[in-house]
Amino acid sequence: MQFVILAGGKGTRLRSKLGELPKPMAPIGGRPLLEHQIELARRYGFDEIILLVGHGREAIEAWAGDGSRFGVRIRAIGDGPPRGNAGAVMAALERLDSRFLVVYGDTMLNVDLSRFWSAHAKRGSAVSLLIHPNDHPWDSDLIETDRRDFITAFRAAPGQASWDYRNQVNAGLYIVEREALAGMPRCEGVLDFGTDLLPGLLARGFELFGYRSPEYIKDAGTPERLDAVNVDWESGRIARGSFATPVPAIFLDRDGTINRDANYVRTPDALELLTGVAGAIRGWNSAGWRVVVVSNQPVIARGDCTEEGLLAIHNRMETQLGLAGAYVDGIYYCPHHPDGGFTGEKPELKTRCNCRKPATALILQASRDLNIDLNRSWMVGDSTTDIRTARNAGIRSVLVRTGKGGLDGLYPDLPDLIARDLSEAMHMTIALHQGAGR
Ligand SMILES: [Zn+2]
Repeated sequence: MQFVILAGGKGTRLRSKLGELPKPMAPIGGRPLLEHQIELARRYGFDEIILLVGHGREAIEAWAGDGSRFGVRIRAIGDGPPRGNAGAVMAALERLDSRFLVVYGDTMLNVDLSRFWSAHAKRGSAVSLLIHPNDHPWDSDLIETDRRDFITAFRAAPGQASWDYRNQVNAGLYIVEREALAGMPRCEGVLDFGTDLLPGLLARGFELFGYRSPEYIKDAGTPERLDAVNVDWESGRIARGSFATPVPAIFLDRDGTINRDANYVRTPDALELLTGVAGAIRGWNSAGWRVVVVSNQPVIARGDCTEEGLLAIHNRMETQLGLAGAYVDGIYYCPHHPDGGFTGEKPELKTRCNCRKPATALILQASRDLNIDLNRSWMVGDSTTDIRTARNAGIRSVLVRTGKGGLDGLYPDLPDLIARDLSEAMHMTIALHQGAGR
């Protein structure tokens, strides 16, 4: 299997740190970034590394050699003028396998590549992109997907203030079918993956799969980002960053916990985040926890809101959180409702399901999707239904005094903790987690 590294970047922005050293040689934990990438590739069975080189080619080739000291084969390809990252791949296409993986030379990552590779094969897409939420979506290139996770649009940064969006950003890790690229027109100028080649493929009707993953993948291409990545290395965050390692999660109820409980939110404009919520979620984000919304949305079954309408509401939520540097790793909801008798209701959703809280299917599904360690996870909500859900799932719970404040009287269960609001819940859970020695 081939692992292609875009190692030709000039690294102008890193000059203050690296001098004349090319970007892929930037030190992370005392070793070149390139060495970390090669080790990851080898760990997941990639036996051939292709370095697409340009600037600093001699230094990179001299260091990498033929790869035998890393247990892989390494080939460097790169001549002629700078072509941009996608241009370099297009120029080398004849020498690439029918399916290959591509990563930027300034990206530090710990991703379960086998999982990504098999997801790509299963979807049969022309290119699969790893996409993830980040803490600055407003100035990132955003990806829109349909319900099957295939890409429907690329939205270039900066976004417009009026947009509501899903916080989904192109992380710069691709699995590519050579055949799809072979039919694309060759151009003389500079060609970029995110802004030229992928939108071009989409426009030609190719299917592009958005592989959502919360795993560790960060650009180390500026002095500040390189420092941040080195801090992540020292703290062990990178080592714990892949799907191979289970992590704790916070399961959050929505209405009354994240946003004001406005007697069923039916439109984006009715969604109003509670004070301090973005800061609380940011706290869990920084501590390396997954943040997952689990919500009963009987508005769908009652016909008060379509699934598209609900997506628009969630996009508003993600946009507002994103403006404050916070993000959620997943939103899971139950569209069902057991009782009939509403005008405009959807009979097919009028059912007793196993996902409506206090049932646990949403939590169990999220924990499979995101490799969550339930023993170290918490449910936070404003109703006794949330506390019962936590008990049913075997996880601990925090009742917040916002929204219903636990006064709904549906279940007699007591929470493990009671907090004034989400912010206090964040401080409490993180303090207990650290006290338990992780
Ligand atoms: Zn359900």
